[in-house]
Amino acid sequence: MIDKFGRKVNYLRLSVTDRCDLRCNYCMPKKNTLLYPKSEILSLNDLKRITKILINLGIKKIRITGGEPLIRKDISEFLEYICSLKQKGLEEVLITTNGTQLKKYAKKISDLGIKKINISLDSLSSKKFKFLTNGGNLTEVLNGIYEAKKNKLDVKINTVLLKDFNENEILKMVKWCADNNFKQTFIEVMPVGKLDLQRSNQFLPVSFAQEKIKEEFGLDPIFFKSNGPSRYFKTNKLSNIIGFISPLTDNFCSTCNRIRVTSNGVLYPCLGDNGSTNLVNILKFDDNEISQKIKNIIFNKPEKHLFSVDDKTYINNRYMNTTGG
Ligand code: SAM
Ligand code: SF4
Repeated sequence: MIDKFGRKVNYLRLSVTDRCDLRCNYCMPKKNTLLYPKSEILSLNDLKRITKILINLGIKKIRITGGEPLIRKDISEFLEYICSLKQKGLEEVLITTNGTQLKKYAKKISDLGIKKINISLDSLSSKKFKFLTNGGNLTEVLNGIYEAKKNKLDVKINTVLLKDFNENEILKMVKWCADNNFKQTFIEVMPVGKLDLQRSNQFLPVSFAQEKIKEEFGLDPIFFKSNGPSRYFKTNKLSNIIGFISPLTDNFCSTCNRIRVTSNGVLYPCLGDNGSTNLVNILKFDDNEISQKIKNIIFNKPEKHLFSVDDKTYINNRYMNTTGG
């Protein structure tokens, strides 16, 4: 699938649930009134059908996300299905998780042939983790991460940079990832959804982390492409690779290859735009007609997101748990 700016779209981020067992305060409010009614969440069959159509249209890579994808009750069955599509053109299946359920699922994920897993972790302090996630248990998450490592999954730790929260943990996290041979990415917080807190008060540019890391460990840019928005660097002292995602300070939309589908079947061609189409409304058509309609939607993918650091986002009717990161 090609859009009108000539970008090839071959990467789907599929949110299989908007529910989550944590409440990271930059992601969604504790009492999230925008959760979809349970009756709207895609059935396993509809999830399978939409995925299959998108793969036939040229999607090569799928990231399963959420909410917390591993709390969906039939997640094992869906992962089994999606991994079976690897014989039909799908090249890569990836998962983004908060790690709480990995003790239970890491082996299953590895046995299915999924190689890479992104795990979100914003603090290595139990107290701060509990505060940020509204009750999360750091030990449980760390045990999940080590279980993933034990099962030979290629772990990448994603950390959202948060002013007055984790800036003094950046070096500790770099060292911990290097010691465990985990890849690592630092991400700027994005103004998706209106929260009580001011996004601009939370915002920390990736350049802040880069400077800190450079001072302590040395840091040089490297030429490494991952089909995503990260810019990669290598530390001199630890020799580990660190990615930085800077949606606000360094726009990367011109190379965007992705689309998102939410757990109730809404297709968002761009995370930072309100334009969307509910695929459930077209599921009554046959696969050819649905494919044609999806191609048209993708062709009109917006040129770029409209995020800004000053809280003047117009994305007010959803949080990140809807579309996944
Ligand atoms: N629950 C899973 C997890 O936390 O990994 C998957 C869904 S979560 C929405 C995916 C990613 O989005 C996480 O790495 C999270 O830190 C990130 N995220 C959530 N809200 C964000 C925001 N406002 N700006 C930037 N990243 C955000
Ligand atoms: Fe849940 Fe992930 Fe959002 Fe945290 S970032 S509240 S773990 S969906």
